[in-house]
Amino acid sequence: MLQYNGMGTRVKRISNAQQKIIMTENSSTFIAKSTVKAGDIEHRRKINVNIGKYNSAVVQGKTQFSDLHLARERAKNIKWKAIETLDQQLETFEHAFTKRGGKVIWAENTAQALEEILAICRQKNCRSIVKSKSMVTEEIKLNDFLEEHQIESVETDLGEYIQQLDGEPPYHIVTPAMHKSKEDVAKLFYEKLNTAPNLSPEQLTLVAREKLRKKYVEAEIGITGANFIIAEIGAIAVTENEGNARLSCAFPKTHIVIAGIEKVVPSLTDLGLFWPLLATFGTGQQLTVYNTIVTGPKKPNEMDGPDDMYVILLDNGRTNILANEKARESLYCIRCGACLNACPVYKNIGGHTYSATYSGPIGAVITPHLQQMNDWKHLSYASSLCGNCTEVCAVKINLHELLLQNRNEAVESGYAGWAERIAWKIWKKTSLSRKMMNMGNGKMKNRIVNKMFTAWTSRHADLNFSQKTFNQLWQEKYPN
Ligand code: SF4
Repeated sequence: MLQYNGMGTRVKRISNAQQKIIMTENSSTFIAKSTVKAGDIEHRRKINVNIGKYNSAVVQGKTQFSDLHLARERAKNIKWKAIETLDQQLETFEHAFTKRGGKVIWAENTAQALEEILAICRQKNCRSIVKSKSMVTEEIKLNDFLEEHQIESVETDLGEYIQQLDGEPPYHIVTPAMHKSKEDVAKLFYEKLNTAPNLSPEQLTLVAREKLRKKYVEAEIGITGANFIIAEIGAIAVTENEGNARLSCAFPKTHIVIAGIEKVVPSLTDLGLFWPLLATFGTGQQLTVYNTIVTGPKKPNEMDGPDDMYVILLDNGRTNILANEKARESLYCIRCGACLNACPVYKNIGGHTYSATYSGPIGAVITPHLQQMNDWKHLSYASSLCGNCTEVCAVKINLHELLLQNRNEAVESGYAGWAERIAWKIWKKTSLSRKMMNMGNGKMKNRIVNKMFTAWTSRHADLNFSQKTFNQLWQEKYPN
């Protein structure tokens, strides 16, 4: 029987033995994809062009902060407070939001969230949905699910629209089509929409706009994510550059918001800090073009807005992270994408190689907790631990330390392979014994160690021991 796992992927009910095979498949697929992508020079060129533009914009954006370090520290403290009191914050939100006529739905996992959305669609006799960019809807694979139920779901963010046309998931949490050049997009529109070949970016945007405008008017339901859930006033805040989220909220008669429970900030005034931080670290802007606060459905004296508004608060493994004192910090993430842009591994292997909704350093940290540690632990090993991600994080999450923490948890939970465990045991025993370290010459050590750590040496240069032991070298330097 088919069922949905924690991240919305359809999987079969599997036995323990089969699970081991999938475990191997996940990591070997990752290695196979990484190997191909890392050698793809054209991919690297496109990414470097786009990340290069981002890097120069961010320098400019940061000039708006008189004390950037303090701003990031403050943001981290606010998120710390929000996450430490998450239950109260969410209840405060629910109370205030429902008082104004909105409906809050608590979804423990993907299956529940999808079921609730389908129930609303059926109740509203919905055949068509406009959707603004939301990583949570990617997480629960909402578009595939709606398609199975013959409901059209159209992505309205330009990058997401491009990805949907191409049948690909987003490549990056902020810029979904970052890996495509303008020529790639022109070719895609030509193939899928019968436009003239070689349209300019402006012309391509106009084509998308024309197609999408009709969809807003036709759709019975609009679905958006939320960049922030504002507990105090019971509202959600959406940040975007194209106005498509606003249209998705306002045109259809029903608005569904789906957001991870960690998106909470305690008060409205917190946005004074988070909006510029998100804009600068996300795209290098001082402020994103459209920042909308939605407080509920249309009131009787109002002209515009939906008749009904629902907010689905999704757990889907987030309470696993909350319960884990060390990993909890990763819930402070505001999904600015800065750590992806800074990561040398991401820049070489690209977003799709991770095969997870959230890629890059933050994805490598949270995916093993949102899903299964044994299936996804390999992502935490895909890091040079250079610390660049921690350096650039808008809310100062210690990402590289959390990657190490995941590796530690994986080993402590017994998920390290048999050969790896034996190899490290021998390594530890030997390196703690001067007598053993002095045995044999460098040549012999090279032969033994490079055979023992084949997982390392298959992808790196061989380890090369000194021909003389430490004691011999010391003796030579200090003969007396
Ligand atoms: S971990 Fe930090 S840098 Fe990475 S997306 Fe989240 S907030 Fe941005």
